[in-house]
Amino acid sequence: MEKFDVIIIGSGAGGGTLAHTLAETGKKILIVERGDFLPREKENWEPHSVFIEGRYNPGEEWLDKNGKSFTPGTHYFVGGNTKFYGAALIRLRKEDFEELKHYDGVSPKWPLTYEDFQPYYLKAEELYSVHGLRGEDPTEPPENSPYFNPPLSHEPRIQEIFDQIKESGHKPFPLPVGIRLNEKNREKSQCVRCDTCDGFPCLVDAKADAHTTCIRRALEHENVTLKTGVKINRLLTSGRKVTAIEGEESGKPITLEGDLIVLSCGAINSSAVLLKSKNDEHPNGLANSSGLVGRNYMCHNNSAIVAISTKKNPTHFQKTLAVNDYYFGADDSEYPLGHIQLLGKVKKEMLEGDAPALTPGIALEEMADHAIGWWITSEDLPDTENRVEISPEGQIILHYTQNNMEAHERLLKKLKKMLESCGTHTHIFPSSIYLSKKIPLAAVAHQVGTCRFGTDPSSSVLDTNCKAHDLDNLYIVDGSFFPSISGVNPGLTIIANAIRVGEHLKKVL
Ligand SMILES: Cc1cc2nc3c(=O)[nH]c(=O)nc-3n(C[C@H](O)[C@H](O)[C@H](O)COP(=O)(O)OP(=O)(O)OC[C@H]3O[C@@H](n4cnc5c(N)ncnc54)[C@H](O)[C@@H]3O)c2cc1C
Repeated sequence: MEKFDVIIIGSGAGGGTLAHTLAETGKKILIVERGDFLPREKENWEPHSVFIEGRYNPGEEWLDKNGKSFTPGTHYFVGGNTKFYGAALIRLRKEDFEELKHYDGVSPKWPLTYEDFQPYYLKAEELYSVHGLRGEDPTEPPENSPYFNPPLSHEPRIQEIFDQIKESGHKPFPLPVGIRLNEKNREKSQCVRCDTCDGFPCLVDAKADAHTTCIRRALEHENVTLKTGVKINRLLTSGRKVTAIEGEESGKPITLEGDLIVLSCGAINSSAVLLKSKNDEHPNGLANSSGLVGRNYMCHNNSAIVAISTKKNPTHFQKTLAVNDYYFGADDSEYPLGHIQLLGKVKKEMLEGDAPALTPGIALEEMADHAIGWWITSEDLPDTENRVEISPEGQIILHYTQNNMEAHERLLKKLKKMLESCGTHTHIFPSSIYLSKKIPLAAVAHQVGTCRFGTDPSSSVLDTNCKAHDLDNLYIVDGSFFPSISGVNPGLTIIANAIRVGEHLKKVL
């Protein structure tokens, strides 16, 4: 059987970035991905195909704690969920690495500090073509180097809103976004500033996703191989070593061997693989002597909000503005509330089923023409009962009970007030279709936390290099390692961590 130096399972933000980091080592690296390349086709940019037909949804169902099945809002393709992400690539705040008190309890301290992550954040921003402007976000963590790419310009309607929010006493700032856009020379720009970025695959390969940014470049090295359509189900062990991985390819069993195994299937699937791999030596599942594999699942308290004003919104690329004034609290709130950013352009298909009957006769299209989508994110706190389990038939069971909702409700009120004070809306309502929010449990886009990292093997699954405490050759580089989720999107931190672990592995290898 062919043997590899490193096998990386999963090609998303974590796995793809790690493959890119390790490619230059010359080591024999295999990336195993259950999905295929996402087809480049007209439907990539069609809201009906993406949101209504669910053309790119996974062909599997999970169970809730009562045994009811649902389709998770996740994607299995080369590049993982980054093929669909909004590419809002923002650092955690310095304080997010420390213990923070919240309405419902405590967001725990990380075993590493912001300063430990800082150099990798910078590398991550360069690699993923992040556009931004330092010094504008009132809560941003320290960094002396400017962004490698200038902030994205606001289109006129968004500039108007930016100015109004500023006049109302807030400090809006340019949202850091990872796209290959050259606004000075549009002829040379890969990105065309379309209105289908957030939630859609990029038809022109201009979104900095893990596939186009990392996997493609990693595969230019002849020591790197990618196997698509291979779903890994189990890791086999002998003592403290993973000896082989087992899965299926087109329904047929497949076994692969590598000296070093890296799981990066996303926080839910990676913990599922570990739990399914239980054997006589590891009866609770692999890497699970702490009993924490699959536990402390977090996904954010997120809401997509649609604000409709009397003024038309002809913006194409809308995701250029964010507000962090309430991140750590407010005059009337001693605890953190969270982060506000613009959503991509609202399409009529996203309003179907959610839009209230505003004025009889107003067509959804008309509403979408006047709509501005907002995305608000507050922290949910780790709870050991929020967890991944495996049914006797091998299906994923996801237990999740919301917590810390007071922060989210207060943040929503702040957003409404902010929009009122600058006259940008006449009606506001939640939109559930973005990120599959119709079934709240299905909104797994920001999944993290199921194999937290730490220094104590009894209270964490991974050590600070993201190696399993219990095994000598098993690492995890997806979102599983987060001890707390913070109030901002997780992608950049997953990417920065994968670079950090990659630099460590270069020494180990
Ligand atoms: C619509 C949407 C919008 C988002 N917007 C943003 C945003 O603006 N900013 C941000 O920071 N984050 C955003 N996110 C979240 C972001 O995409 C994820 O945090 C990130 O992709 C997670 O990285 P990961 O490596 O943990 O997992 P993934 O990127 O999901 O990668 C996991 C990979 O493993 C593969 N896999 C799974 N199981 C197996 C198996 N058993 N065998 C083999 N392969 C397997 C999957 O197919 C996938 O390719 C968004 C997500 C979605 C869905």
